[in-house]
Amino acid sequence: MTGGAGEGGVIVVDDDGDAGIDAVLPFQIEASGLRGRLVRLADVADAVIAAHDYPEPVARLMCETLVLANILASTLKYDGIFTLQTKGDAAVPTLVVDVTSTGHVRGFAKVVADRLAPDTPATVPGLLGQGYIAFTVDQGPQTQRYQGLVPLEGETMADCVNAYFRQSEQIDTGIKLAVDRTSAGWRGAGIMVQRLPAEDGARPAPASDAEDDWRRAMVLLESATEAEMLSEHLPANRLLYRLFHEDGVRVYRPRPLKMVCRCSRRRLIEVLASFSAEELAEYVEPDGMFQVVCEFCATEYRLSEQDLAPVRDAALQSEFPPP
Ligand SMILES: [Zn+2]
Repeated sequence: MTGGAGEGGVIVVDDDGDAGIDAVLPFQIEASGLRGRLVRLADVADAVIAAHDYPEPVARLMCETLVLANILASTLKYDGIFTLQTKGDAAVPTLVVDVTSTGHVRGFAKVVADRLAPDTPATVPGLLGQGYIAFTVDQGPQTQRYQGLVPLEGETMADCVNAYFRQSEQIDTGIKLAVDRTSAGWRGAGIMVQRLPAEDGARPAPASDAEDDWRRAMVLLESATEAEMLSEHLPANRLLYRLFHEDGVRVYRPRPLKMVCRCSRRRLIEVLASFSAEELAEYVEPDGMFQVVCEFCATEYRLSEQDLAPVRDAALQSEFPPP
């Protein structure tokens, strides 16, 4: 991103910013003080989805959820891992996306193939069914906390996230998403505009300037086309300028995003070493090796009893230290 860096890390919109791809861009509409986020995903979305052979509607839902999870994560102050997880009773019983405070993103969806019909729509009722979405923030041992829990109500994931902000946070929110599978891979984009509650919690009167500002911002947001949201040739600054220039728009520093999985051989050994013999039996191959595939990045790990032994011994020693 180019442009004049102003006070407090503020970058004022100009016309020659970069495309803001694989990044979150916070912005503010100057005249009204409404805050916003623009997320555009290319390699991140494609890498998460390409690790699996998802049916088309599931890939589409995953792409939308990746955009939304990154928008949500960017509104929170945390040092650790933000997780969005759905639980449902349809073809996709679980869908998970997590985002670290350093911008590492990963995700996976569990798919029950025989619950998926050829014409299943890529909607919340179609793929997820009845259930809920949980948002958690994990900032280290014993610090996991629920940020929120919302029922799976609405056609799209954006509807559910919108309901979360409205009901749990009392924040008016407008979200516009665009998702497409191009010749270069999956692409996703999302713009969110929010009106934070007044300090005294009072809502603006129906005919007030604040209410007009909000309505106008929602009309402008809705006017964003999928093509311009997803275009790699339209810089992020220019897209926001095109939409909100009449009220002035201020864009803050972009936060880059990357698909990175946190799985490792070491971590897996620790998990398997804590399993009982029955639990381990599930992973044994005919050659006696344990085989585990990371559900996020599909990396395949093969481990032997000898790999687990030192970790088991160390655990035993700390439980029953020698006299
Ligand atoms: Zn992994």
